[in-house]
Amino acid sequence: MTTPFPPVFIFLIFGLMIGSFLNVCIYRMPLGKSVVHPGSHCTKCGKAIRWYQNIPILSWIVLRGKCGSCGDPISIIYPLIEAATGALFVAHYLWFGLDPIVLPRLLFACALLVLAFIDLEHRILPNPITLGGIVVGFLFSFAFPPGWQASLIGILLGGGVLFVVGELYLRVRGIEGMGMGDVKMLGMIGAFLGWKAVIVTIMLASVSGAIVGAILMLAQKGDKQYPLPFGTFLSAAALVASFFGDAWMDWYVNQLG
Ligand SMILES: [Zn+2]
Repeated sequence: MTTPFPPVFIFLIFGLMIGSFLNVCIYRMPLGKSVVHPGSHCTKCGKAIRWYQNIPILSWIVLRGKCGSCGDPISIIYPLIEAATGALFVAHYLWFGLDPIVLPRLLFACALLVLAFIDLEHRILPNPITLGGIVVGFLFSFAFPPGWQASLIGILLGGGVLFVVGELYLRVRGIEGMGMGDVKMLGMIGAFLGWKAVIVTIMLASVSGAIVGAILMLAQKGDKQYPLPFGTFLSAAALVASFFGDAWMDWYVNQLG
């Protein structure tokens, strides 16, 4: 049977709509505001955004990046996040197909996207996402890969390892290299993906963070230490691990023995 709407199209539309909600989370959560109430409104004039002004990407283009009421510019970040979420949904469909695992992995990817942008902007990783993610990821693991044992070890490994490294860093260098937010976020990554992916994520995030950090230091002549949003690197690394992590770890373990 052929349907007029192929699944990839449905994933795209759904992703764009969810992306619109993720924008609300990214904007409001750091301010401690509710993500459900009130409805979407202009952050400048407070005027409610009507449904036809809230169509992902299209509305931003039609309104030429301005509020329909007061004309205040609306950042291009908003349609970009909608587009990125749409792309994430399509990528998950292409990779996982209609396997039920696509559900927890999409939820996880959405959480990563929100954390990445909040950390980039505010250098914080809100507890409702990280701690909530640990609980949700662990619950999912009873029905989905990686299974509850791997998930539990992932939570302990992710939370524990980074906590120890962070403490060492603090003692040795006297500065906080990693916040508790990063520790909780890695616990969340472990909960959803299991302990193998935690190792992959830490390696990828550390290497990419070090490279970007070095480039920034050179560009700024090293006069001040620019605090890197490590959570943003963890997000990107965990997303890669969500797709490829297990295959890479299995390959590596096979090489060893
Ligand atoms: Zn306005």
